Amino acid sequence: MTTAGADIASNLDAVRRRIAAAAARAGRDASSVTLLAVSKTFDAATVRLAAQAGQTQFGENRVQEGLDKAAALTDLKIDWHLIGHLQSNKARKAAATFAWIHSIDSQELLRKLDAGAVDAGTRPRVLLQVDLAHEKTKFGADESRVADLARAALKARALELCGLMIIPPIPEDPERSRPWFVLLRQLRDRLVASGLPASSLRELSMGMSQDFEVAVEEGATIVRVGTSIFGHR
Ligand SMILES: *Cc1c(COP(=O)(O)O)cnc(C)c1O
Repeated sequence: MTTAGADIASNLDAVRRRIAAAAARAGRDASSVTLLAVSKTFDAATVRLAAQAGQTQFGENRVQEGLDKAAALTDLKIDWHLIGHLQSNKARKAAATFAWIHSIDSQELLRKLDAGAVDAGTRPRVLLQVDLAHEKTKFGADESRVADLARAALKARALELCGLMIIPPIPEDPERSRPWFVLLRQLRDRLVASGLPASSLRELSMGMSQDFEVAVEEGATIVRVGTSIFGHR
């Protein structure tokens, strides 16, 4: 799919203003929030328009789709984030291209991704996807396994553990997401209190088009926004 450049530029501007307003309400500096533009289903030419409007961070939920767009846009200085489920058999490919991987949810995936990054000579930043809501259709590590996963990630040779990610149930009302965002932040705070380095848990990837302002109010450092930037898929 494609969207006109002028629309993308004004949508980006509107989303950035809403992030800044939400940050101000929470007494946070807007520069502490990274806007990740989720470009899944939109073509490389559309990503280029967003990059021309100043956007540098892009998220994809499928490995191959992300690799194809990255290959078509090597002339741009942008970082690719993988936000969707990663199967271990694609870990090697993902490690070579994605600067950030938000969906680490098992020790096996961690090991394969680390081996792939060593081979590729890359240092991907990783987030642990936490499953708090236990929806059948979603991935993520159970809360009880997150501390062990974090310790394993800290021992990785090539991966840099940076924080946690959550995909809560799609809300009818953005306020419905707030409790999940609070739980993720509290989990992070408990992990740090238990001795894990705060720098390795500094990022909270939470909030999408429907609820990113609430996420910013609750401490999100990365918001993943697709529809509000590129239009409906
Ligand atoms: C698609 C997607 C988003 C963006 O969703 P929008 O509602 O279009 O903003 C964010 N996070 C993940 C994991 C996604 O798959």
